[in-house]
Amino acid sequence: MYSQMDNYHKARMKGCRAHAATAWIHANPMPLTKFTNDQFKIAVHMWLGIPLVSREMECKFCGRTMDIYGAHASTCKHGTNIVKRDNSIRNYLYSQMKVANYTCTIEKKYLNGIGQKPADIYIESLVDNRPTAVDVSVTSCVQSKIVQNVNNHIYQAADDLIKVKLYKYKDFISKG
Ligand SMILES: [Zn+2]
Repeated sequence: MYSQMDNYHKARMKGCRAHAATAWIHANPMPLTKFTNDQFKIAVHMWLGIPLVSREMECKFCGRTMDIYGAHASTCKHGTNIVKRDNSIRNYLYSQMKVANYTCTIEKKYLNGIGQKPADIYIESLVDNRPTAVDVSVTSCVQSKIVQNVNNHIYQAADDLIKVKLYKYKDFISKG
């Protein structure tokens, strides 16, 4: 069955096998993290590879093709979707760090002296009492560049994003 799937479904199935890929299904609904009914329906459709719409259309943000499975809609970098999801996760982590009584700051400026914000959450003291920069990023195993290469490994999207971040903040990281 897997060998007969197209690249999109092969990439989706790889994502379904990733570590903690089912965590969203098992999570207890909480005020800050619960799905709306529509969000849950979309998540289930995407998980099972069921089309969300009957035909492809043009993305109003970038002009590329919006596929019927919602992959482009969930990964388009030209709309606000990814930023909203990134900020939502960042804000939730930050709120939990505050509950745990950590001294932390959202997007603290000038950590590297040139105005970049390498830390979505900057924690004054964490492991071994050292300051820690936490970066939150949203990516997808069904984004077009991953789907195009069927030989990508299960964590290719995450690995690609880590490389981008490590390069972007290489000067900050090398200072330790
Ligand atoms: Zn788009």
